Amino acid sequence: MTYTDTRDSSVCVDFKTAVMNGMNAVTGGLYIPTEYPQLDKTFLRKVPEPSFRDIAFESARLFCGDEIPSGDLQLIIGDAYPFSPQVVPADQVTYIMELFHGPTCAFKDFGARFMARVMSYFNRNETTPLHILVATSGDTGSAVGSAFHGVPGLDVTILYPDGKISPLQEKQLSTFTGNVRALKVAGTFDDCQKLVKTAFTDNELRSKFRLSSANSINISRLLPQSFYYTFASLVVKNRMPRDSKIENGSIIAVVPSGNFGNLTSGLIARKMGAPIAGFVAATNSNRTIPDWIFSGQYEPRPSVSTLSNAMDVGAPSNYERIVSMYSLENVRRLFASYWLDDKGTLDAIRHCYDNTGYIIDPHGAVAWKAWSDIRRGALAELVNGGTRNMSEPGLTPNIPDWAPAVINRQAVGIVLETAHPAKFGETVKAAIRREPVIPDRLEKVMRLPDNAIPMSAFYPDFKDWLLANL
Ligand SMILES: *Cc1c(COP(=O)(O)O)cnc(C)c1O
Repeated sequence: MTYTDTRDSSVCVDFKTAVMNGMNAVTGGLYIPTEYPQLDKTFLRKVPEPSFRDIAFESARLFCGDEIPSGDLQLIIGDAYPFSPQVVPADQVTYIMELFHGPTCAFKDFGARFMARVMSYFNRNETTPLHILVATSGDTGSAVGSAFHGVPGLDVTILYPDGKISPLQEKQLSTFTGNVRALKVAGTFDDCQKLVKTAFTDNELRSKFRLSSANSINISRLLPQSFYYTFASLVVKNRMPRDSKIENGSIIAVVPSGNFGNLTSGLIARKMGAPIAGFVAATNSNRTIPDWIFSGQYEPRPSVSTLSNAMDVGAPSNYERIVSMYSLENVRRLFASYWLDDKGTLDAIRHCYDNTGYIIDPHGAVAWKAWSDIRRGALAELVNGGTRNMSEPGLTPNIPDWAPAVINRQAVGIVLETAHPAKFGETVKAAIRREPVIPDRLEKVMRLPDNAIPMSAFYPDFKDWLLANL
């Protein structure tokens, strides 16, 4: 299995190189698979569907080729995933895929834990530490910190925007000791990402340290996120005839998005054979991608703060991967896209709770509302010639190929619930006047002391710190 680069298709590297480099320092591009291997058809048609871990193993095997022998890969998968996604029916045509059953209660555990173990495997014969730099808008840092903590030979520095993440998120990433530390940057997530990107292209730093990334630009975080799309689509395919009397319905994955790593992983799962008919790209007020799908102009911009802060990304890195996989025209045929403001997010949490009894977090709520509008006629309105004012929350006016399936009630949605609602207890309480129950693993972390180090957003300051402290 080989990997190429979003900026230079003549690049061809193996899995280890793509994982250990993080991005291509020469071109500044991101690694993507050269081609998409197909999951075995008989495997995909099994009834009941294969377990999450079996799907993870079968998919990972295709990505790693002979670089990780099967026995070692089985161990990596077993160690990475002592938990599974849960697919919960919310109503006749909606399933919620809970991705928060890992140690940090957010979907990023799926990518980070696989990445940590693969990096550790590839690093096993080295004598110098591998330095991981990661920018986070919230949940990445804790997932990466937790996944790498205590792993020998690996050293992790997390950058997060000071004051722009929830107190719990901050605790979750600033309380590590030993090989994992956090810098609180006086700036936005985009500033953090810029510091990391600049460090990767800094020749002086690269000559002194072995550097790698761990945010969603690393292909080893993206690939394992495809596992749960394949898993959930097979679960839903088997359940749909019973739950909603729909035979061979279209399955739509509804993805609350920020940097668009999660959605790109869904695209990979679909290319490998997962029965997914289409996607809904749902964002908060950081609507760079919906605006691009609407106008055809890609205009990255500074991020704005919202209630779904892990999605506060104005310049989503994975745009580059999406356009290397699909033309704009094909994106418009495959995706509906939707944006929602903070007021709409609170309404959505309440609406979901009132209609189903399900307590959803502010990120999942954005996706929930997108699907709710779509199935209640928003796409039908567009098909009938309705127009849209993009400055109001709602759908972009493109009509995806799967619109008729929704209109004829032959489609079901899988809403990705990316974080446990207790991580955003105050927002949830403001919406439904009730606080979600806090899982033990979150309560524990709140009692640990905070060790974050203050940092400016000025690159030379960051560089000096790295040179003095790594
Ligand atoms: C990171 C994150 C997102 C956004 O995922 P992307 O891959 O950046 O699009 C959504 N929800 C939660 C809870 C997150 O932590």
